[in-house]
Amino acid sequence: MRAVMPTLLCLFLPLLLIAEEAALPIGDIIKTKALVPDTDEPKKAAPRLEDITLYEMNDSVRVVVRPSEKVDFKYDLLAGNAKDRIYIDLKNGLTADGFTAPTVAADSFLKAIRLGKREEGTRIVLDTGKVEKYNVMVMDDPWRVVIDYIGARQAPPAEKKSGPAVAGPEKKPEEKQAAQKTAVAPPPEKKEKHFILVVDPGHGGKDPGAVRKNLQEKDIVLALAKTVRRIAAKRHPDIEVVLTRDDDRFIPLEERAIIANRHDGDLFISIHTNTYKASEIAGVELYHLNNRSDEYTDKLTRVENQITNTNSFLNTILVDMTMSLYIGDSQKFAESIGKRWQDTLAPFETKIRDWRKGALFFVLVGARMPSLLVEVGFLSNPREAKILQKDKYLEALATGLLDAVAEVRKKHILAKDRP
Ligand SMILES: [Zn+2]
Repeated sequence: MRAVMPTLLCLFLPLLLIAEEAALPIGDIIKTKALVPDTDEPKKAAPRLEDITLYEMNDSVRVVVRPSEKVDFKYDLLAGNAKDRIYIDLKNGLTADGFTAPTVAADSFLKAIRLGKREEGTRIVLDTGKVEKYNVMVMDDPWRVVIDYIGARQAPPAEKKSGPAVAGPEKKPEEKQAAQKTAVAPPPEKKEKHFILVVDPGHGGKDPGAVRKNLQEKDIVLALAKTVRRIAAKRHPDIEVVLTRDDDRFIPLEERAIIANRHDGDLFISIHTNTYKASEIAGVELYHLNNRSDEYTDKLTRVENQITNTNSFLNTILVDMTMSLYIGDSQKFAESIGKRWQDTLAPFETKIRDWRKGALFFVLVGARMPSLLVEVGFLSNPREAKILQKDKYLEALATGLLDAVAEVRKKHILAKDRP
């Protein structure tokens, strides 16, 4: 989070129209030719389609559409029998001249991308498998539209979760071991009995996050993430920690949950540090994902989401909160970690400000697992800025976090483990 109050720009909202005609005229689609200007007067160059990035899985896809500048757009989902399609109309005369749509992987949930010229700009049509849920988000810097399509989840391998997720005498470990041997082999990268904790050190590379004097958020959260990985290896060998980055590199917000999904994570935690104008404000905050907001979380999400106006995404994200399946588990993890930290961080006099709050953090959207965003302290508070540079403090944070995760895993059957 950065220290400044976000400037409130008058962003006009993208015009979002739902329910267009069910039969979409798609015969005119495929490649376009140059738009011919109909006047001789000098005009600003039309916005162009610059990039389409695909993050493909066999049951979902995230599509990032990036024009050369912000444009008005509308979109809709058109239901078919076994297949659905979504179109997005980019307006303001946007042209896709010379743009070649990316190739779709053979086993992708996305079947095809087609581009077509429209009177007002360019239509992108995405043919997908059967869509169960979708999200549309608008992100800034650079301005882009992120669309998630999610189909029915593919059943995970039956023996995937074999750890002690259930308290009680239900089965002895040996019996469980025996049962696993007869089951289908898990994917090679997923070790048996392991709980995959995906830790996302916020920011990185060209994005330092909060900066105070010589301290940068991106460095502190990376050091903490590495500490979590190191302590897990010793203290909780059945928790496998995966980092979204383990060096100083830039990863777009929309790619981070994708990394977690590709590792089939069981919990996704994005780590940040906070700042505030009043230097006496200090403490730790844990957030799960939801779309309720108050003035404070509004400001926080604007900063962490790198956007200037929350309205520009609240209206779109409400199409569906795909993460609702995991909200209960996310809250359990947040509470457990928050309570642990009350103990492990007590010697450092750290206050746990809140673990009950939800907020709409882009980085968590699309994660198909419980997910949290944690602000581990305020760089604007001199005491916290100092202790956040100490190994002992990072170890206390890491230990509390991991012990809490292990505890939740022992006491609860998580949604991801249910058939
Ligand atoms: Zn941050």
